[in-house]
Amino acid sequence: MELQVSSLDFGYFTKNVLKNISFTARSGEVFGIVGPNGSGKTTLLKCLRMALVPKRGKIKLDGEDITKWDRTEIAKYFGVVPQNTNISFPFTVLEIVMMGRIPHLGRMQSEGKEDIEIVKRAMKLTAISDLYYRYASNLSGGEVQRVIIARALAQQPKILLLDEPTSNLDINHQFETMKLIRYLAKKENMIVVIISHDLNLSMRYCDNLLLLDGGKVFSAGRPEDVLTSENIRKVYGVEARIDYNTAIKSNQITLIDVVE
Ligand code: ADP
Ligand code: MG
Repeated sequence: MELQVSSLDFGYFTKNVLKNISFTARSGEVFGIVGPNGSGKTTLLKCLRMALVPKRGKIKLDGEDITKWDRTEIAKYFGVVPQNTNISFPFTVLEIVMMGRIPHLGRMQSEGKEDIEIVKRAMKLTAISDLYYRYASNLSGGEVQRVIIARALAQQPKILLLDEPTSNLDINHQFETMKLIRYLAKKENMIVVIISHDLNLSMRYCDNLLLLDGGKVFSAGRPEDVLTSENIRKVYGVEARIDYNTAIKSNQITLIDVVE
């Protein structure tokens, strides 16, 4: 499957926030979006699933323009892991993950055996099976994050959209999350689009990157071509040194200082 965005513009009221964004993300690929605060990453992620309606441009799934689809149809394709989810209602983990099945259920239809199997599998993949009947309000930030990922997986999406899923996690769970995301892309053949502030994780775990600056694509392509010291200096105003690290078989970025 191919998610193709072309010449996309978006603005809140009159202010233009996204300008002429084009890229293609494919099944089996982890597609990363990076860029400074306010560069338009979250806005772009919301436009992809039509939660925000672009002013101009096309979003196509395998050549079909989804800007003409209705919401429930779109919801079957896109799983969403929003930034900083707060769960203030007293739901159990099982109830929250089961919510992922809603787009697949008919009106007034309750979940069946198959839905329960799908939910169990989503919980296993995210290593939260032992949290089944716990109340989400009593979980740690990392556990909540995994519950929200499980809810998105229970939807059995073709495309998974994640907004800074690792930002509240300890280093162990950052790795676990990135490895899960790669597994989902490679083994379940999903398109995974992930926003991250962690340039080293993006370098190592993404197949392709889009670097946004001021709502425009500053650079796009392979992580090693996008996250160069020159691009990091221009976009973030930070001096960075980049070395190939044989231990992780990836480029590693060392941030040195802000540019004077
Ligand atoms: P990022 O996720 O890269 O930090 P955002 O997409 O959240 O950036 O924001 C891009 C720009 O859009 C920022 O200037 C932000 O202030 C503005 N913005 C975000 N959400 C809204 C909103 N609901 N109404 C008006 N402006 C917004
Ligand atoms: Mg954001």
